[in-house]
Amino acid sequence: MAKSPEVKLAVFGRAGVGKSALVVRFLTRRFIWEYDPTLESTYRHQANIDDEVVTMEILDTAGQEDIQQKEGHMRWGDGFILVYDITDRGSFEEVGPIRTLLEEVKKPKNVPLVLVANKSDLDHIRQVSTEEGERLASEMACAFYECSACADVGGAVAEAFHELCREVRRR
Ligand code: GDP
Ligand code: MG
Repeated sequence: MAKSPEVKLAVFGRAGVGKSALVVRFLTRRFIWEYDPTLESTYRHQANIDDEVVTMEILDTAGQEDIQQKEGHMRWGDGFILVYDITDRGSFEEVGPIRTLLEEVKKPKNVPLVLVANKSDLDHIRQVSTEEGERLASEMACAFYECSACADVGGAVAEAFHELCREVRRR
C-alpha cells in the first residue's frame, strides 16, 4: 500500500493572536480559553482531504522565538499558516515581515501559505477590516480566512488547514 503523504505545517504570528487556540480547535473541535503562551508543541493529525488520507505534522510556535529559531521552523515546514488578530493591528503589521523572512529562508521556492484573521467574534473591537486582510492575502497570492477559534462557524478553521495541505500537495 502506498504510504500516505505527510505534510509539515507551521503556525506563525505574534504571541496572543490565538495560534494555540486555532490548532486545538482544529484538532479537537473545542476551544480552550487559556493555553500556555510560552509553549511550543507539535501534533500529528490525519485527515481525509479530497479522498486522500493526509498526515499532518503541525508545529504551534510560541511567537516569541528569536530569529534563528524562527528560521529553523521555516526550514522545517512545508506550508505555513500566518495568523493575526483582527483586534490587534500590530499583529497584522507583523505578517508582512514574517512572509519576507519566509521567502528569504525558502528561496528559490514559492512558499505555500494561508493567511488567517482570528477572533472574528470580537467584531466590536476590530482594528483591521476584512478588506485589508483580503488585500494583504492577494498581495501574498494566498488564500484568506477570517475566523474565530472560539466561535468557529462553518468550519473555517479546518478549511484553512485543509486548503494549506492542498497548496503544499500542488507544489
Ligand atoms: P497564541 O499565543 O497565539 O498561541 O494565542 P492563544 O491561543 O494562547 O490565545 C491568546 C488569547 O486569545 C487567549 O486568552 C485565548 O482565549 C484568546 N483567543 C484565542 N482565539 C480567540 C478567538 O477566536 N476569540 C476570542 N474572543 N478570543 C480568542
Ligand atoms: Mg500559543
